[in-house]
Amino acid sequence: MQETLQALQGLQQIDRHIFTVQAEQRRLPEELAERTAKMEEQETKLQDMRTRVHEVRSEAKEIEDLTAGMRQRLRKLETESNKGKVDAALLMSYQHEMRKLKRNISQAEDEALKKIDVGDAGEVGITAAEGQLELAKTVFEEFEVNVATELEEANARFDELQTERNKLSADGIETNHLELYRRLLEIREGEALAELLDGHCQACFVQIPKNIGVRLARGTEMVQCPSCDRIFYQY
Ligand SMILES: [Zn+2]
Repeated sequence: MQETLQALQGLQQIDRHIFTVQAEQRRLPEELAERTAKMEEQETKLQDMRTRVHEVRSEAKEIEDLTAGMRQRLRKLETESNKGKVDAALLMSYQHEMRKLKRNISQAEDEALKKIDVGDAGEVGITAAEGQLELAKTVFEEFEVNVATELEEANARFDELQTERNKLSADGIETNHLELYRRLLEIREGEALAELLDGHCQACFVQIPKNIGVRLARGTEMVQCPSCDRIFYQY
């Protein structure tokens, strides 16, 4: 069993690094995708802001057009009333309509002004958002270049480690032991082995019952940590 443990320790030396590099190879594209999504979200938000401002401006324009029509009608009624040839009943109806028109024009003007204010405020917001997006784009482009470089480095390192790893023979390690080791590498983030020292697992630091230490010292079987499952070795 001592030989198996030594061989596994040799593998572990490199597998630890391979695991780290693989994590890097996964993390970098994920981070890039996340940042890309955020950038797109920001762009969409800006586009929405532009749409809203455009909408509110057209609404204001519509109201202004409507007001212009009402003003025209009001002027016509004023002219008619001032001619002096209108009978009393018609004059009263004109006056009634003129009062109504004035009220409506005033309301419409208020409403249009409010919309223009909203549009102006939106425009300020758009300018700020455009500035932010521009800045974010610069940062993102830098990040993108860095990710590409880092990924290239990670890939090169991975190839190097893989070559090194291929030189190490796993011959002489029983298949079931090798499988257990590989499984633990995966689930224990690149650390499949643990030293048992002073009655404690040096990976998870749990206190280990004495009989387990005795079994390990006997050297006839593979002994795992009862807490983290890692394969024990000791010097
Ligand atoms: Zn443990």
